[in-house]
Amino acid sequence: MNTQELIKSAELAAESWSADQILRWAFRTFGEDLAIASAFGVEGMVTIDLASRIAGKFRVFTIDTEFFFPETYSLIERVEQKYGIEVERAYPLLSPEEQERKHGPALWTRNPDQCCEMRKVEPLRRKLSGLRAWISSIRRDQTAQRTSAPKISWDTKFGLVKINPLADWTERQVWSYIHQHQVPYNPLHDQGYPSIGCTHCTRAVRPGEDSRAGRWSGFTKTECGLHVITPAAAETISTNLPDATEV
Ligand code: SF4
Repeated sequence: MNTQELIKSAELAAESWSADQILRWAFRTFGEDLAIASAFGVEGMVTIDLASRIAGKFRVFTIDTEFFFPETYSLIERVEQKYGIEVERAYPLLSPEEQERKHGPALWTRNPDQCCEMRKVEPLRRKLSGLRAWISSIRRDQTAQRTSAPKISWDTKFGLVKINPLADWTERQVWSYIHQHQVPYNPLHDQGYPSIGCTHCTRAVRPGEDSRAGRWSGFTKTECGLHVITPAAAETISTNLPDATEV
């Protein structure tokens, strides 16, 4: 089986795998060349908790835009203590002050795509360049762009394998797991913030609004650019994957 067939086989087979099975396969396949990306929303917390039950050692990193809420920074510290890990931080090339000097004040109010590119996408690209696979916690029903997210695929945007173990989970399943396993979560979720990003681009949602309405409110933007779904391009894979049926 060539590499293209292997990744295709994993992609197809994984559709019937549980999050647990996907994570087991991922840790066995990629070892330390694999890391969980998280901004510490509830889905990310579930993934981290699942990983802690499966792998003795696992890596977690965050793209610290330097605009997180204080509650998010506190949660990161709690995660490090509870799971005995050190969360790896990737920072933008420009500090907030340097960005303001170079691009003017409050870029996020004028050009949030450019701001996200500099503060999220570029640091992620740099971080992923040292990995063979990454785990994200996106769910298909979160945004229109995520509806076709495979559980395992080749990430053509960043050039490595992308794993979405919670792709077919519902919001109810996520919260049920959080409560059942007493997983810590961001207290802002209890104050009307279903989705939490940078302070400048996140507000509480009003009753009846979509759960992502509080992100980039006033803009048509719904994604920061990290999770653009593109067709598999397995021919560019240079890694050897084991038999995807060995879950
Ligand atoms: S979410 Fe807002 S502040 Fe954060 S990087 Fe994107 S545009 Fe900038």
